[in-house]
Amino acid sequence: MSVSGKLFYNWSDKDFDESLKFIDTEQLGDIPYDVTIIGAGVVGCALAYKLSMYKLRILLLDKNYDVGEATSKGNSAIVHTGFDAAVGTLESELITKASRHWPELAKKLKIPYEECGALLIAINDEQNSQLDKVYEKALNNGVTDVQQLSAEQALELEPQITKNVLRGILIPRESIADPFSTSIAYSEIALANGVDILFGVEVIGIENVDEKVKSLITNCGKKIDTRIIVNVAGLGSRKIADLYGGEPFDINPRRGQFLIFDKFSRSVINHILLPIPTEKTKGVLVIPTIFGNLIAGPSAEDFTNDDETVANTTIEQLQSLLNGASKLYPGLNEQPVIGTFSGVRCNCKQGSYWLRSNDGHRGIITVSGIRSTGFTSSPALAEFLISEMQEKLGLNLELNPAAVDSRSESSWPGWWKRPYSNNELVKESPEFGRVICYCEQISHGEIIQHLDSPLKPRTLDAIKRRTRAQMGRCQGFDCMVNVAEIISNQCNIPLKKITKRGPGSEIISTNTSQY
Ligand SMILES: Cc1cc2nc3c(=O)[nH]c(=O)nc-3n(C[C@H](O)[C@H](O)[C@H](O)COP(=O)(O)OP(=O)(O)OC[C@H]3O[C@@H](n4cnc5c(N)ncnc54)[C@H](O)[C@@H]3O)c2cc1C
Repeated sequence: MSVSGKLFYNWSDKDFDESLKFIDTEQLGDIPYDVTIIGAGVVGCALAYKLSMYKLRILLLDKNYDVGEATSKGNSAIVHTGFDAAVGTLESELITKASRHWPELAKKLKIPYEECGALLIAINDEQNSQLDKVYEKALNNGVTDVQQLSAEQALELEPQITKNVLRGILIPRESIADPFSTSIAYSEIALANGVDILFGVEVIGIENVDEKVKSLITNCGKKIDTRIIVNVAGLGSRKIADLYGGEPFDINPRRGQFLIFDKFSRSVINHILLPIPTEKTKGVLVIPTIFGNLIAGPSAEDFTNDDETVANTTIEQLQSLLNGASKLYPGLNEQPVIGTFSGVRCNCKQGSYWLRSNDGHRGIITVSGIRSTGFTSSPALAEFLISEMQEKLGLNLELNPAAVDSRSESSWPGWWKRPYSNNELVKESPEFGRVICYCEQISHGEIIQHLDSPLKPRTLDAIKRRTRAQMGRCQGFDCMVNVAEIISNQCNIPLKKITKRGPGSEIISTNTSQY
């Protein structure tokens, strides 16, 4: 994919690739940006993608060293239909709209996507009494293809679910997709269309806030001028809103933990299994992943905004998740767990989808509280934000006829295409036959290919999310060092400087005094 935007990393180490280093704002040009998006989560990346269809000067920046490094990497990866959203809300409107576009979007972005359907089951009298309400809500949300099922019909669809099932609802269009490729694909296309991307740059101040141009102050001391600011910084959005005097709101991070089960468990469950949702959460789900595993979760644990333990996993919660999920699928107890993870929802006390245009000052938009559905809604939310910018902030939109809206066929991820089994390809490029990650069967060739992909990923986690090397049964025990060596050799970075997720997360300790 050809690239016309600029890409820089605020990675000052002398061994880091000079051509990617962010040294001075002169590298970005001297004209203020039309729009700067703070936060390269799935929502910020979707916005960059959609805005890149117009003739605009756009910057996407993030304090992390890859896209989708925060909430967007730790979710259930369900493309929701919106059947259980609060009726009449913006969230419901955006999810139902987005879900109908997802099959086409996934094809354009080359994101593996599967319409596996979801099965919601009632397993006691109290839940049974609520089932009709869930059905009515789905219809009121415009999700009219849901079907009521008897216990026999539910068991026929999923023979391994609990025999205690009393009734069920089938939601045929609930789907699963690759959450990592989504942020990557959005931003690769944005970059191709001329959007500039800056990694490792944290916004810590805003100066000269006037009607026209605002200056963002960054942690590396550089000032970036822009006409419009879109604050889509997720859990960091409140801190940024305080910098420009936005309307006050409160974020109470809500952690969700998950268990990952080995691949053979996927063959016994085909649908997403859902309990009856509560006021607070959708409950503990059993979810097939697009990668071929099952996951169970998430929990819903509330934290204060500055709690450093928020992203941890805990044995008590994981056990409780296993107990909860086993009520839907009792056999889960016998399936091997290969890993655990957690994600943190941006839960806004004032309500989900907290959007404010001209917040505090003309030309600033605050987007927060995108709590549980932002992966699904991202394309529709981006379009909504663009219409807000046009109508309320006076953004002039002129289509760019040269813009592309899709990635090339070669962008389908290797774990999906299985290049190691393509004899012709291996004959031509033997490195695609050299398997590095045995659990996921990922080849040396795929890792090299990704290091040279448009966003120039340079960390172990960035390569993991693109290739799945280190994500299999051994969780990187076997291949992590090999992957680190490939990054080191290919990018001329000493092995001791290879990091998990950016400076400060080096995998080899150079402090030997303790031994
Ligand atoms: C447990 C769980 C399960 C979920 N399941 C689903 C699901 O199945 N389906 C679904 O549709 N949604 C789901 N979600 C919700 C979805 O993951 C989120 O809505 C979405 O990822 C939010 O994306 P975002 O871009 O708003 O935020 P984020 O991904 O958090 O991105 C914000 C970015 O801002 C950056 N940032 C913050 N402060 C600054 C600063 N000062 N300067 C520069 N950058 C900054 C951060 O580094 C981060 O990259 C789930 C969420 C969780 C936690």
